[in-house]
Amino acid sequence: MKTDLKEYTVEEICNGFYYNEAEEKGVYGLGGKLVIQPEYQRNYIYADGKRDVDVIHSILKGYPLGLFYFNKTSDDKLEVLDGQQRITSFGRYYTNKFAVKDDKGLESYFNGLPENLQKKFLNTKILVYVCSGTETEIKKWFETINIAGIPLNQQELLNAVYSGPFVTLAKEQFSNSQNSMTQKWSAYIRGDVKRQAYLQEALKWVSNDHISKYMSAHRHDDNIDELQKHFNAVIDWVSTVFIDVKPEMKGLEWGTLYDKYHDYPYNPEKVSKRVNELYNDDAVTSHKGIFEYILGGEKDTALLHIRIFSKKDKRTVYNRQTEEAEAKGISNCPLCAIGNNDNKTRIWKLSEMDADHVTAWSKGGATDISNCQMLCKTHNRAKGNA
Ligand SMILES: [Zn+2]
Repeated sequence: MKTDLKEYTVEEICNGFYYNEAEEKGVYGLGGKLVIQPEYQRNYIYADGKRDVDVIHSILKGYPLGLFYFNKTSDDKLEVLDGQQRITSFGRYYTNKFAVKDDKGLESYFNGLPENLQKKFLNTKILVYVCSGTETEIKKWFETINIAGIPLNQQELLNAVYSGPFVTLAKEQFSNSQNSMTQKWSAYIRGDVKRQAYLQEALKWVSNDHISKYMSAHRHDDNIDELQKHFNAVIDWVSTVFIDVKPEMKGLEWGTLYDKYHDYPYNPEKVSKRVNELYNDDAVTSHKGIFEYILGGEKDTALLHIRIFSKKDKRTVYNRQTEEAEAKGISNCPLCAIGNNDNKTRIWKLSEMDADHVTAWSKGGATDISNCQMLCKTHNRAKGNA
């Protein structure tokens, strides 16, 4: 790989700068010679009124902007390898997309700056390493330099490694916060759409969690039909089965739940009634387990983290059981006491026993002292219901 050090002014870079609002990326600079956001790059994430503003303040105060790296892709074409967030920030400022406060606290767009500051901005020089090399060399190196600043996350790296028509189309659909569907999807998916969280989820669902294998196999596809269809199927299914949108639904393993349960029939109104009953049940301490619990036919109470007995209750019940057992000469575990082995008369220590719901929670049993019995750990595990 070959590198040359070059200097450009901000004015040169901003020549022909164009920012695509829909895709949230700076597209061209240097009069069309420079591709600011190659398809394997991350979306523009500096537009937060903080990092973008910092870039402009640095320029206006004459602070260094750091090094930039461009990749020479042909005789008269360059693309930004590192520095895309900074360039998009000053390009957007130059095109009056946002304002910054001056020393007196007054907001100013570029076209409202005093002429001397406009000149200072435009004449600011940036230092660029221009590299040329093979695609593999460039990508390898790209991964390395991006460890500085905000590191690329897993999905951003995969997008870089498997860049091509498939990633481009997939990002248009799943990494685009202007997509009006994002709002609906956000009920079920956790994370930042711009940091590829939705794309990652869509890929996870369709590939059974083999994302890189899937991306590699589909890298040169000119469509994302399968990805899109599967994603829509999962979302349609969950939003049909569960009419209510609860905050705890966000980030659940909907792809896996879909695979496991989408062939079963559910009555959405009955489901809704049960969801709300379980939400209102004090004994249910894990609300996010409710959905899978219902899908599975209300069998696996472990998903609900049913409230456990307090230490005080356990000790009270233990003392009562032990006293009675000692008087009768039998084990203080009622199940051991009716057995046939040596444990028939064994008095367990409190630490060797666990509390059990006499009537299971799922059969209406409460978590209070009247429904508590202490069992030896073996018997408690064998009984195994909440
Ligand atoms: Zn026992």
